[in-house]
Amino acid sequence: MMVKRAKRNQAAASRKTSKKRARHEDDEPLDAHDFEIRIKPVKTTGSRKRKHSQISTSDDFDFQLDLAGRLEILPAGVWENVREYKTFIVEPIHFQQGSIVEVKRPADHESTESRPWVARVLQIKASDSSHVYLRVAWFYWPDELPMGRQDYHGVNELIESNHPDIIDAMSIENLADIKEWDESNEDEELSAYYYRQKFDYPTQQLSAPRTICVCGGYQNPDTRILQCQSCKTWLHEDCITADAMRRHYKPFKFSRFTEKLRAAEAAEAAEAASKSAGKQPKKGSTSPETKPVIKAETIRVEPQIAVLIVGDKIRIKEQSKNHDRDSDSGLDLDTITDEAIHCLNCDEVVE
Ligand SMILES: [Zn+2]
Ligand SMILES: [Zn+2]
Repeated sequence: MMVKRAKRNQAAASRKTSKKRARHEDDEPLDAHDFEIRIKPVKTTGSRKRKHSQISTSDDFDFQLDLAGRLEILPAGVWENVREYKTFIVEPIHFQQGSIVEVKRPADHESTESRPWVARVLQIKASDSSHVYLRVAWFYWPDELPMGRQDYHGVNELIESNHPDIIDAMSIENLADIKEWDESNEDEELSAYYYRQKFDYPTQQLSAPRTICVCGGYQNPDTRILQCQSCKTWLHEDCITADAMRRHYKPFKFSRFTEKLRAAEAAEAAEAASKSAGKQPKKGSTSPETKPVIKAETIRVEPQIAVLIVGDKIRIKEQSKNHDRDSDSGLDLDTITDEAIHCLNCDEVVE
């Protein structure tokens, strides 16, 4: 089983400082990494097998944070006999069952993510002051998910999982400044780190965030969304600007240049046809009026459009990069148009 491990030498280092009691070699407490966790499979009574590493959009997404009842902790019988505590102090950090903590990431651990690991403490046990074990459920940074970071993941977003592990309390760096993000609460202020999705480790399924907008996508908390007061739909700023882009781009694309494009394409088709008929052994011998020379230029003369939201308006800036010398279109000047933002769902003005 792939299990993230806290730095092993933390445990080794703490062991050196332990006051050894006179005890038999076999009684020496285990280090956190000596425990092995196995997850017992659930009895699948004929139910369909889940596909791996997927974002679950179904309502039957099943997530149990503490898999205690399904865990087999080896060596058998040892974990059960270690004394349990409700709270613990690794000066200056006071934590308890349920605390979310930052865990030192081993220096040699290869990951695109360099911030500490984050875990929820589910159980605290200790054999003595230098053998304090934490049974945890890991959080994932988006980059560490089997499906990788998704477009909608925020920079400071984590994913809660039930990925079980036993770590040494000495590997804790800090309490994590993290809060669950309730997407249905529109006034919610996000803390330093936040999580809204759950990753079920045994089935490798990821719960889906709330869908918004006419595109049915998710919200990336680092980008802006606007709410229509009439229909209450939240809209991606990107979808609003993309819509404006389409509306303003169309007239240029389909009136002025398509004729040239069609002519060029027709000429090309004619040339290809005559070539295959063997009538044109020499290149460049097509009649001059149908020669397909416009295509590249057609693309170049399309105006550059920039769309952005300024206040409560959409600003459309059309900048013509017109290399067509005999142009009489008047597109050589930049044009700035401000228009009201209309809801992509109900068409009411969004304020
Ligand atoms: Zn959208
Ligand atoms: Zn609306």
